[in-house]
Amino acid sequence: MVGGGQLARMTHEAGIPLGIRFKLLSDTPQDSAAQVVSDVVIGDYRDLGVLRAFAQGCDVVTFDHEHVPAEHLRALEADGVVIRPGVEALLHAQDKGVMRERLSRAGVPCPRHRIVADPEDVSRFAAEAGEGDGFPVVLKTVRGGYDGKGVWVVRDVTEAAEPFRAGVPVLAEEMVDFARELAANVVRSPHGQAVAYPVVESIQVGGVCDTVIAPAPGLSEELSGTAQEMALKIAAELGVVGHLAVELFETRDGRLLVNELAMRPHNSGHWTQDGAVTSQFANHVRAVLDLPLGDPRPRATWTVMTNVLGGDYPDMYGAYLHCMARDPALKIHMYGKDVKPGRKVGHVNTYGDDLADVRERGRHAADYLRGTITE
Ligand code: ADP
Repeated sequence: MVGGGQLARMTHEAGIPLGIRFKLLSDTPQDSAAQVVSDVVIGDYRDLGVLRAFAQGCDVVTFDHEHVPAEHLRALEADGVVIRPGVEALLHAQDKGVMRERLSRAGVPCPRHRIVADPEDVSRFAAEAGEGDGFPVVLKTVRGGYDGKGVWVVRDVTEAAEPFRAGVPVLAEEMVDFARELAANVVRSPHGQAVAYPVVESIQVGGVCDTVIAPAPGLSEELSGTAQEMALKIAAELGVVGHLAVELFETRDGRLLVNELAMRPHNSGHWTQDGAVTSQFANHVRAVLDLPLGDPRPRATWTVMTNVLGGDYPDMYGAYLHCMARDPALKIHMYGKDVKPGRKVGHVNTYGDDLADVRERGRHAADYLRGTITE
């Protein structure tokens, strides 16, 4: 796996009982996954020479992020390296412009959008797409964004200048008045076998995923089926191998629009570690190795994943002891990362029959670990 973040750490963990030999390419030995994987190469994924040397002896190469340059992936494929998902699929997770164009062509509903050239062009887009002057609109750099970085809500032409400073093409989108955000997670193997997890609700705070509820409360069977079918269709059309997260907006009038795609294990699927028969990480490993996929069904009525963000206090140990003792049923997943304010350092999974209780226990633990509550 290329990339040493927490996704690689948890993918490695899921591969252990499957007997998989896991090799990692990581930026530094301190990275979350590099701390726990025995076969680690330290190197820069932007360097083709490093990638080539790393891929030697791998049956398959997969990724914990989408930042490996496409030309390097093409070069590796030309060398005969098996990359899953392949570069033609990955392009749609790397570049939001490519993704929007391709999904629209496939008839998948997306927010109104187009690539914009400069702030004046943003004004023209706004006037075409919305009512009145059309602002606010959402601007996104097509590449390199994550956790809300690279996304701006702009109210006028002056504010529209900022996203262009990065020198990366900018995508304009209508500002969707959504009721909530959902995610449809599916996994597809080279054989074409595919599984769909229950559709989840994901709650963002300040552009960062905060809570995921599985399944999405109150979602009709019809809409849930539509979301799963949409994700399976996208996976098949784009030739995705491995885990695909389709982030969706549920509009107030009951429509689904695709926001984003991720072709790797995803934060909206962390609940599956403790809440599904087979986790997203295990199924990603199975898929990229073309093994039969595992059962995606839930193991509890409700599972809630709450992200643990760093607070001002770098030492979580005391809080950690308290949370464990207070709630022995809490499933804690820490990433081994230094605590910095706002940084994702772990998550907790809670499950049970009473959603309010399951949510409250997750919320309490995350807030206590962060240090925003002391009782
Ligand atoms: P990232 O790559 O950082 O995950 P996203 O494209 O997922 O960026 O956007 C981050 C968040 O911004 C979304 O989760 C959503 O809350 C909000 N957002 C993105 N696009 C739109 C849109 N077109 N309309 C309204 N809100 C949006």
